[in-house]
Amino acid sequence: MFKAFLIKYGEIGIKGRNRYIFEDALMKQIRFSLQSVQGEFLVSKESGRIYVETVGEYDYDETISALQRVFGIVGISPVVQIEDKGFEDLTEQIIQYMNVVYPDKNKTFKVHARRARKNYPKSSMELNADLGEQILKAFPEIKVDVHNPQINLYVEVRQKINIYSEVISGCGGMPIGTNGKAMLLLSGGIDSPVAGWMIAKRGVIVEAVYFHAPPYTSERAKQKVVDLAKIVARYTGAIRLHVVNFTQIQLYIYDKCPHEELTIIMRRYMMKIAQRIAEDRNAMGLITGESIGQVASQTIQSLYSTNEVCTMPVFRPLIGFDKQEIVDIACKIDTYETSIQPFEDCCTIFVAKHPVTKPNLHVIKRSEEKLKEEIEQMIETAIETKEVIICEPDGME
Ligand code: ATP
Ligand code: MG
Repeated sequence: MFKAFLIKYGEIGIKGRNRYIFEDALMKQIRFSLQSVQGEFLVSKESGRIYVETVGEYDYDETISALQRVFGIVGISPVVQIEDKGFEDLTEQIIQYMNVVYPDKNKTFKVHARRARKNYPKSSMELNADLGEQILKAFPEIKVDVHNPQINLYVEVRQKINIYSEVISGCGGMPIGTNGKAMLLLSGGIDSPVAGWMIAKRGVIVEAVYFHAPPYTSERAKQKVVDLAKIVARYTGAIRLHVVNFTQIQLYIYDKCPHEELTIIMRRYMMKIAQRIAEDRNAMGLITGESIGQVASQTIQSLYSTNEVCTMPVFRPLIGFDKQEIVDIACKIDTYETSIQPFEDCCTIFVAKHPVTKPNLHVIKRSEEKLKEEIEQMIETAIETKEVIICEPDGME
């Protein structure tokens, strides 16, 4: 029955030139997301609205899910489009629409007619009144309520006539590409994919860096990170993943520094390297999946110590979340099942039995002094030898 979708998007703060940037980015993401759906779609902008029209057969449920993955969409209205064959035909089609969409007529309604084509014989006011009357005549149980109706029936006269009333919620946020770029520290865990998704939802292009420690971490652990990036890419579009070989640095720290400080020192070097890659890629922030108090390396003292090496902002969208709240989002965005696959992680392999939970920055810096001979060269090598993997959503390579 539905041949088109009207896309509703938030409009706060998108006046003037910004509005075009927002709408164009939104249309680009809609086209990208619909590539994974069976069928042919035309995405267009018409008098400040975005429409998705279908050409021929298509899968309704898949189309809705694909649109629900587009950041910036607030609501999706499935639209019935009919040819203009006069008022009587319009009435018939509207009655049929009401019958299919609202089997239970014990409801209140209001007609909102709009005329984009001024040569139509009835004015909007006349359409409201006349269609309202016909609906009341057809369904004795239905009532009009002009203030707070349960059904808002929109009838728009354009070249064709659009009829719609339902709004399916979208995921909100801003279209990708409208808010710069940031570099996500992506591990194989539950938290960091969620953190990347949340920042991307605000319109930020996300690239990712993964610290890999072969042979202590396996190819399979790396593949898990690629798989996670591919799932997040269903929302964002292809993600550029920088895989950094961290083994040499990790062994060097293990060799020279107190073992209980290993995690914190390692995290500091991860942040430093991620920041260097971010600068090279014109990203203006780092993203991590940290949440206060979740583990020893995320106490407020630990966060203070890792943050100290960064000059660019570090976005920690999960900072105030409980684990269960993070898991709920991971389930919703479909990363959870992949995240819980049991593969070793470079942070857990060298982990001390009793890591410091309240690191003192002076002490940490003193320990790092012991690395000064070779660490800078090791960082250069790690950056020079990184591997770049473009992670596209499955089925789109
Ligand atoms: P996650 O579930 O995201 O793995 P976590 O609870 O395991 O997080 P930590 O191991 O303390 O927490 O890591 C904190 C953050 O550091 C992660 O959310 C991630 O952003 C980053 N991180 C940790 N390990 C790596 C890694 N091997 N490569 C890239 N980033 C990492
Ligand atoms: Mg982890």
